Amino acid sequence: MTIERFAGPILVIVAHPDDIEAHCAGTVARLIERGEQVRYVLVTSGNRGTDDRTITAEAIAVRREAEQLAAARIAGVEEVRFLGYDDSDLLFHAPRLREDLTAIIREERPRTIITHDPYPGNGSLDSCAIYPDHTTLGLMTFQAAYLCSPGPLFYPEQLQNGLDPHRVEMLYLIMSDRPDTFVEIESVWNTRMDALRQHKSQGRDRPEMETFFQRITSELGAKSGYQFAEGFRRLAPS
Ligand SMILES: [Zn+2]
Repeated sequence: MTIERFAGPILVIVAHPDDIEAHCAGTVARLIERGEQVRYVLVTSGNRGTDDRTITAEAIAVRREAEQLAAARIAGVEEVRFLGYDDSDLLFHAPRLREDLTAIIREERPRTIITHDPYPGNGSLDSCAIYPDHTTLGLMTFQAAYLCSPGPLFYPEQLQNGLDPHRVEMLYLIMSDRPDTFVEIESVWNTRMDALRQHKSQGRDRPEMETFFQRITSELGAKSGYQFAEGFRRLAPS
């Protein structure tokens, strides 16, 4: 059972509301069922994710945060942090992002982090995977987890403010075109889809979403001997 490989506490760090529900909410639901502590960090609130010219960035962010909180509650996650970076601009804020992520990791002290794959391939499978917010956040989280958080000379002012160095044991990467770890999600399918459907502003409640995600998760399942699965690339520290 690959779910056993995810050691808690677990921190899930993603760029946008609905990234978790599209790619790993079934795994989260199974980890919660097992009694693990899982917390979410949403780096942006998706404040540019609309085609509606009448809505403000602030208003769409408020709506998407509410959708994310509802989705988290369905999966059983109680703590969600929103960092409030502007949607689609993470590439331009990489230094501050790495520093913020290092502080959060030193504070939350997860053994496992689930985040985006910084090198997801050429995008031929899914252009979403090479979206700059996803790749930038994957790279900055990787650096924060394995390079900065354990090193006392990185951001020493954080140590002076009471945060101790911390070493993360393993990263699991979503949206990878080279998944090597698969989690069976058939038993939590309804929970996963209920969580996804909370993202109404992104059309995730449309009926065709069920078919779409059955196809995605059955393709991952076919690689692993399950009917439906979520897939991750495991990235160990060097
Ligand atoms: Zn995203």
